[in-house]
Amino acid sequence: MKVSEFYKKSKAPVFSIEVSPPLNGESLDPIFNTINSFKEFNPAWCSVTCGALGRPRGGTIPISGRIKREYGIESVVHFICMGRSRQDIENLLTDMKYEGVENVLALRGDSPKGKTSFRSHPKGHRFAYQLVRQIKLLNQGRYLAEKEGEYREGLPTDFCISVAGYPEGHPECSDKKEDLQHLKMKVDEGADYITTQLFFNADHYLRFVENIRKMGIQIPIIPGIMPVGSWPQIRFILNQQLGINIPQPFIEKLEKYHSVRDKTSAQKFGIEYIASMCKSLISGGAPGIHLYTMNSPTRGRGVIQETFNLKR
Ligand SMILES: Cc1cc2nc3c(=O)[nH]c(=O)nc-3n(C[C@H](O)[C@H](O)[C@H](O)COP(=O)(O)OP(=O)(O)OC[C@H]3O[C@@H](n4cnc5c(N)ncnc54)[C@H](O)[C@@H]3O)c2cc1C
Repeated sequence: MKVSEFYKKSKAPVFSIEVSPPLNGESLDPIFNTINSFKEFNPAWCSVTCGALGRPRGGTIPISGRIKREYGIESVVHFICMGRSRQDIENLLTDMKYEGVENVLALRGDSPKGKTSFRSHPKGHRFAYQLVRQIKLLNQGRYLAEKEGEYREGLPTDFCISVAGYPEGHPECSDKKEDLQHLKMKVDEGADYITTQLFFNADHYLRFVENIRKMGIQIPIIPGIMPVGSWPQIRFILNQQLGINIPQPFIEKLEKYHSVRDKTSAQKFGIEYIASMCKSLISGGAPGIHLYTMNSPTRGRGVIQETFNLKR
């Protein structure tokens, strides 16, 4: 099933999760333990990251296939075009089709660790909107021909496509209006819904949605939520230079709990803060909550229970 259908059909906010493949050679258990732990909340879909934060690793497509087959949960492959030729991309999308995975988050990809500038593959794409275009062409049955720039007809795929949106702007684009125009290019190429970067202030999301709607874009915009509940996590996020503002009082309180080694209070405070933000998002019209679990269910479960007033 296409993930966009959940947002068309469901009257209640749609809950979904993100998991990440482990570093190559490490156990898959944390992923499946996380999914098992969220099962009672019926996540509608689960996305699987691809070497996020510039740390390459395998597994995204087969793990997505397994989630769909073994758990009956729709899965979404995070698909990056960075470092891949158009032929590599077509081959991997074909792997996805054979795995029965119908949903793809079309991304450019993070720069490799330690490098700040992005280099595209000479026979690949520079921006995510070009990847969306290639996927759309496959959905029309147009496959790469041997001769550059030509296509041959084949069986059409039927991928549902999401693209990334940045409520506070993408860090490489200094002009937020221009960044929104770049997002519009991805939507114009055929994106079905937008998944956002994490943020820590509901107003950032709500203003972002307002600006997007003013541009005439009507597709669902799914807020990506990171259930943070410790100072080291905050430090990690700040170090990534994602262009995200974290409210100072939130930082200071987590720092204070960290300095007295009070993990329990930090976690409780984090859950309450993030859940309160989720409640504001939902009352402001967000179609659901997409939780970045980081393969660790405890805080995310707390956030869901608190947001939706579920029993502990
Ligand atoms: C929900 C979500 C999930 C993610 N998951 C992963 C993951 O699993 N793995 C991973 O490696 N990364 C992941 N990322 C990070 C993402 O790969 C990076 O943020 C990357 O730097 C940009 O990807 P993009 O698809 O938004 O790129 P693009 O949309 O191509 O934008 C990249 C930059 O180029 C600019 N730009 C776009 N089009 C043009 C144009 N025509 N002319 C000039 N400038 C342009 C944009 O303004 C932006 O600054 C994720 C991000 C989000 C929000």
